[in-house]
Amino acid sequence: MTLARSFGAVISGVAGQIVTVEVDHSRGLPGVGMVGLPDLSVSEARHRVRTALLNQGLTWPRGRVTISLSPAEVRKQGAGLDLAIAAGVLGATAQLSERALRETVFVGELGLDGSIRKTSAALPCTVAASKEGFARVVVPFSDIAQCLMVPGIEVVSYTSITHLIAGLDSGESPLAPPARASANRAPFPDLSDFLGHSEARAALEIAAVGGHNILMVGAPGVGKTLLAERLPGILPRLTPEQSLEVTSIHSVAGAFSGTTFDSPPLDHPPFIAPHHSSSLAALVGSVSGSRVQPGALTLAHRGVLFLDEAPEFPRNAMESLRQPLESGVLRLSRSTWSGALPADFQLVMAMNPCPCGHALPGSGSRCDCSSLAKRNYAQRISGPLRDRIDITLAMPVIKSKAIGDSTSVTAARVNEARERARHRFRDNEWEVNARIPPHALQKTFTPALPAQELLDQFQRKLGGLRGAHRALRVAWSIADLAGRSRPDRDDMAWALHLRASDWSKAA
Ligand SMILES: [Zn+2]
Repeated sequence: MTLARSFGAVISGVAGQIVTVEVDHSRGLPGVGMVGLPDLSVSEARHRVRTALLNQGLTWPRGRVTISLSPAEVRKQGAGLDLAIAAGVLGATAQLSERALRETVFVGELGLDGSIRKTSAALPCTVAASKEGFARVVVPFSDIAQCLMVPGIEVVSYTSITHLIAGLDSGESPLAPPARASANRAPFPDLSDFLGHSEARAALEIAAVGGHNILMVGAPGVGKTLLAERLPGILPRLTPEQSLEVTSIHSVAGAFSGTTFDSPPLDHPPFIAPHHSSSLAALVGSVSGSRVQPGALTLAHRGVLFLDEAPEFPRNAMESLRQPLESGVLRLSRSTWSGALPADFQLVMAMNPCPCGHALPGSGSRCDCSSLAKRNYAQRISGPLRDRIDITLAMPVIKSKAIGDSTSVTAARVNEARERARHRFRDNEWEVNARIPPHALQKTFTPALPAQELLDQFQRKLGGLRGAHRALRVAWSIADLAGRSRPDRDDMAWALHLRASDWSKAA
């Protein structure tokens, strides 16, 4: 055979993309040409692959070798295509069977001695191979433990090219995967360590039930951060598919920073807390060639994004939140790559009640801020963003040291309440109360009559329609926690209490 086809994978954005490698050799002046948007590291593969094959005692074709990578419009980056190119050359010279090439995706770098080496982000490539229906993926040994979590595909590993040829063609057993470490458990601080603040803890629980975005307002040191970092612990565990998705994203991020990411799969919602001095690129991500270094918004996908001192974030940073909050995705458009990144997170923001931080009662110090300064400060969280906040929680300074329920007890309640909601929404495309669209709130998911009266009153006097909708969504979460089939008047009263733009009036 003089023309052979093999399959590899590269990272495009934060996901794997299958690449078809075609290798042709013909008579003519000896040389190797490569087409299909390879970057320098891929271009250099021809030298690495040739040396690796020769050092393993294998044949390199005589004459002219042409290597074509497709889809042509995707930029190919990194040395992870080495193995797929080698496999193509082996196919074109009949050293590897066409059957083995047809069903297999090859991911890995080659050493000059022909050894198969670790590449960055083998996990997203394995996910892509499984999605495209390949039977098998060959990954470097160091990545196999993580890649084995991908369902529906055989994951194998070999030490070298000759080992691979023997294994794929004759069924010689590949390297045995290492014993799996058990997944990491309970990485978050316990809710029972957070003393007092029973109202705030209850609000956090409600937010967890409905997936509500929450703004905490309180003096410095009152415990806003302590409360926020306890949210992921009471959220439902990630499903296997979500875990795969989140672990893939974090492995791409890890590959960028050069840290090895071969820890067990992430099975809790991530908690990402960028500092207000973070650059915009650190929040939305940055593009290098065809790869995206995911920013905080994408790293928080399926988890919690916590913005402490939210008014201190620059306006463009706050604006970057709008689209993900609406659609769960973040669109990036750069010269070398554009596309959508996953960014479906629950937003938790914290802020002081005023520039000096002492405007709420009980802070112990006097607030000297002018009303204009207070208003300007509050307005740094823009209207459209505020529209996405279902719960605004005023956290006063308190002396109580009362111990509340632990994370596991609270998480069990949250899970039960979420189950109720899931059942209610079984015919809808959303799963949590925060996502009930306005038309469904008006027609289907209306509260009990006394609660509706209360809501109407609020809407006329203060809230407007959108404010009323946010309160109703929260009331559903309160009802789910209490096991009621519909929010009653008390649920609604509590929800209205929790939505208070009242803090700015208190301030
Ligand atoms: Zn003040």
